Amino acid sequence: MRFDCDVLVAGSGAGGLAAAITARKAGLEVVVAEKEPLYGGTTALSGGWLWIPNHPMQRSIGIADSLQDAATYLLHEAGERYDAERVNAFLTAGPQMVEFFMRQTAVQFDPSATFPDYHPDAPGGRPGGRSIVARAYDGRSLGKKLAWLRRPLPELTVFGIMIGSGAELVHFMRWSRSPRSALFVARRLLGHGAATLFHGRGVRLTNGNALAGRLLKSALDAGVELWNRCAVKELVRQGNVVAGAVLERDGHEVRVRARKGVVLACGGFPRDGERMKRLFPHQEHFSPAPPGNTGDGLRLAQAVGGKLDESLPNAAAWVPVSRVPRGGGAWGLFPHFIDRAKPGVIAVTRKGVRFVNEGNSYHDFVQALLQTGETHAWLVTDHRAIRAYGLGFVKPRPLPLGPHLKSGYLLRGDNIGELAHTAQIDPALEATVRRHNEHAKSGSDLDFSKGSNAYNRFYGDPDIKPNPCVAPLVQPPFYAVRVEIGDLGTYAGILTNGHAQVLDEHKRPIPGLYAAGNDALSIMGGNYPGPGITLGPAMTFGWLAGRHLAGET
Ligand SMILES: Cc1cc2nc3c(=O)[nH]c(=O)nc-3n(C[C@H](O)[C@H](O)[C@H](O)COP(=O)(O)OP(=O)(O)OC[C@H]3O[C@@H](n4cnc5c(N)ncnc54)[C@H](O)[C@@H]3O)c2cc1C
Repeated sequence: MRFDCDVLVAGSGAGGLAAAITARKAGLEVVVAEKEPLYGGTTALSGGWLWIPNHPMQRSIGIADSLQDAATYLLHEAGERYDAERVNAFLTAGPQMVEFFMRQTAVQFDPSATFPDYHPDAPGGRPGGRSIVARAYDGRSLGKKLAWLRRPLPELTVFGIMIGSGAELVHFMRWSRSPRSALFVARRLLGHGAATLFHGRGVRLTNGNALAGRLLKSALDAGVELWNRCAVKELVRQGNVVAGAVLERDGHEVRVRARKGVVLACGGFPRDGERMKRLFPHQEHFSPAPPGNTGDGLRLAQAVGGKLDESLPNAAAWVPVSRVPRGGGAWGLFPHFIDRAKPGVIAVTRKGVRFVNEGNSYHDFVQALLQTGETHAWLVTDHRAIRAYGLGFVKPRPLPLGPHLKSGYLLRGDNIGELAHTAQIDPALEATVRRHNEHAKSGSDLDFSKGSNAYNRFYGDPDIKPNPCVAPLVQPPFYAVRVEIGDLGTYAGILTNGHAQVLDEHKRPIPGLYAAGNDALSIMGGNYPGPGITLGPAMTFGWLAGRHLAGET
């Protein structure tokens, strides 16, 4: 079969759909090919946060920012890998991209004044205001096509309910301690129950699922052609111009001519075992990314002369994950974003020693773990803390601990020595907890300064004084959950310029070829500066690609 269009996009995550919608709104005929049965990629599983300094809602929440401060911060974060051209393109276009989507599409965002940069005290860093999150979405707006959307990670839902990060999450964490939160949760439970009765599933989409749902709806409304179960297999050139691709759909070959060009947005290589083995410093790795993200975009670009950069010190955005038994020998992954910062939670290696400020970002946490030469760690806590905040997949009271103890996800000991024995952690854990408790009595952490910056404190417990991130572990029994190394997406990737054009080894654009999202080399230099630093650039460079294809730059 043959098909003609203006633009072919490979992949239906944030990068791909942003490019597709932008090009379509500019009048081009656009096809999105998605390899998997469902649309949305990792984006649909994500938190749905975008880091966009100087975004258009900053003023309304009383935040003052500047392009110069944001550039200074990114220079500090990326160091010698700072790419001035692409950073400038991102910082300039990011706010315009937000404006475009909010004005012309179903993609809507809410700002946060308090979600800090991950290194808020670094030059140009901010204690809040640069990140926006996809606004919750009524999935019924998609009609029957709601079934086309990838569902969120089950481990991040409660009874199947998608909980919005921010105020909603706070209510769920505090429902046994605050009547207002209890009322909120009761309403959400009732709403979810009714939706399940009438629609067979929850329909209130939040976080990344809301972002992917809103992008899908916008693409459909705009008239983007969407093909699922359809993998881009090979790029086709006329001379040195990329002019289309060979696709495989249901076992049949489809040849697509793309008059303006092709956008690669296949979501990087978190499921490409060979490249991971080569670029990751550790062997045991657990990625929550969907199975289709096997690095196709990188290979497609390389096959037509596109240059890759695989030299970043961290080839991916690391996150500690725990393996949650799903029954029948299957398991899911729980990414530990929040619990590490809570007072009364520490992390140790199997040697029973702490190694990091547990309240630091997931990426920094894993980097510190890698420096110890270990590939897993334990989160250790006491009865007070686990009932107040939960731990990983374990929810706070009144939900029971029993099932997690039975499945082996959660380990328990009547005292720290017994817990160490059960978890096969070195008995040095006892001295570690003693030392931690000694300092914690006055709210200090002399070893790793937990609670010392705005980002740590953002996830702490404001009711615990003087340090919302530090409390002694004193109330038996004691508990531990094992965490492994995972990723949220990959950083190494295809060299591109400020228009998202793929570059060759001489840094010349390959005409007709673009890359957005995690297929493109990250502009963060292997660091993780703040909430939304993959989706912000993914949508911005997708938008830039769409505009360049339409001749609008
Ligand atoms: C739990 C979790 C939370 C996260 N939270 C955040 C957050 O809040 N903010 C943030 O910035 N980042 C977050 N991330 C990371 C973020 O989700 C990813 O970096 C981002 O979604 C990548 O977008 P993408 O468009 O590059 O790829 P994806 O969204 O993964 O989409 C790529 C798509 O391409 C398809 N594909 C692959 N090969 C082919 C092919 N040959 N032909 C056609 N299609 C193909 C795939 O099937 C997939 O659907 C989170 C990640 C996880 C797992």
